[in-house]
Amino acid sequence: MNITIVGTGYVGLVSGTCLADLGHSVHCVDINEEKVTLMKNGQVPIYEPQLEEVFLRNIKGGRLFFTTDLSEAMRVSNVIFLALPTPPGEDGSADLSYVLEVAGQIGDLMTEYTLIVNKSTVPVGTSEKVYNLIKSKTQIPFDVVSNPEFLREGYAVEDFMNPERVIVGASSQKAFEIMDKIYLSLTNAGAKMIKMDEKSSELTKYASNSFLATKITFMNEIANYCEKVGADVDKVRLGMGSDQRIGNRFLFPGVGYGGSCFPKDVKALIKSGKEVGYTFEILESVEEVNQRQKTILVPEVEKYLGNLKNKQIAIWGLAFKENTDDIREASSLEIIEMLLNKGAKIRAYDSIAVKNVKKILGNKIEYAINMYECIEGADALIIVTEWGEFRNPHFDILEKKMNNKAIFDGRNLYNLDELQIHGFYYKSIGRKLIN
Ligand code: NAD
Repeated sequence: MNITIVGTGYVGLVSGTCLADLGHSVHCVDINEEKVTLMKNGQVPIYEPQLEEVFLRNIKGGRLFFTTDLSEAMRVSNVIFLALPTPPGEDGSADLSYVLEVAGQIGDLMTEYTLIVNKSTVPVGTSEKVYNLIKSKTQIPFDVVSNPEFLREGYAVEDFMNPERVIVGASSQKAFEIMDKIYLSLTNAGAKMIKMDEKSSELTKYASNSFLATKITFMNEIANYCEKVGADVDKVRLGMGSDQRIGNRFLFPGVGYGGSCFPKDVKALIKSGKEVGYTFEILESVEEVNQRQKTILVPEVEKYLGNLKNKQIAIWGLAFKENTDDIREASSLEIIEMLLNKGAKIRAYDSIAVKNVKKILGNKIEYAINMYECIEGADALIIVTEWGEFRNPHFDILEKKMNNKAIFDGRNLYNLDELQIHGFYYKSIGRKLIN
């Protein structure tokens, strides 16, 4: 099939590349000219494991194209996926301006039956809004489908190719049939396609992300309580997680969730509820607790070092989680801001995300080229992201290079006994303080 993808961010570029790998011919459209030029030259503008290989294979195979011109793409395809940003507006609601702007353009450009497939995360009722907008511009038949995306950054290619489910919300048989064809290779391989109406499909995405954010936050509260009563959250986690009704994923406590999805989706669902007179009390608490959790280690560092003015703090990890360069709503940014306000000096290390952080923080902090340079002369080390390379450090190098043997671990990476043997002051989340 000939498919157009509008928006080549984490969702659009991965979806487009993977759909090309399933044999479709895919035209990716983006308004960012720099990005499109890069992609035309065979360069992937985001970091995502496996993406480059699949991307290059499909460019070479003549199935993946890039353009800034929507009309050029629409001339050869009548299935258009929207993978556009839906950032939080000032009041927390999802900003639909990107989606509606492109929908309007599609309405103006359409010359034959077109299927508009919305992959962006959008509030309930958006399919209807998109439909009405296009309808006001054209007499040509079309359908709008909700097909929310569930891929995880860091595992995006793997997730797209092996989805636990594909959700399709539509109200026309023709639309369902086209969606069946698009995803045939995945459903043939065993992926489950769940068909429903557009509103339920749109809400499925928000409900899933909000539930996961709640699960993480619940565990963070249990961790905070563990510290008060001397329980060990890792043991509690293993005990709880072996109950199949609970499951062992998303039970890891830490310095809060971040990223481009959970924070904005929780906010947007709260706002959507308010619009119809419903208060999501659980989600309001989730937001509040998560905000507090993000910087929970800063007072702990202060407790250990006293006044932070001119103290040298090392930060391992800037991305909001491992395997991504995404720093949107990352806990690292909030921790750094708080430390800078207290006069601390910061040297940070992240193998992938530094480029994005530099755009925001510039030279307010130093950037190390590796994890050991980062801790040279440090009065304390804070671990923010669970990158694999931080999991088994040479503690003897840390002992030699750090000014104080003090680690504040926001991801519970280390064994308590081992840190005790090495004589570190070790503060993690929901576990015994080693000192
Ligand atoms: P992103 O910010 O990484 O990418 C969006 C892209 O759209 C950018 O390249 C931007 O230049 C482009 N764009 C903006 N306006 C455009 C226009 N008028 N025409 C063409 N291109 C335009 O966004 P993302 O992370 O890929 O997210 C896209 C949507 O998918 C959001 O609604 C998000 O909530 C949802 N989602 C994201 C993830 C994720 O892990 N990132 C997962 C599932 C769902």
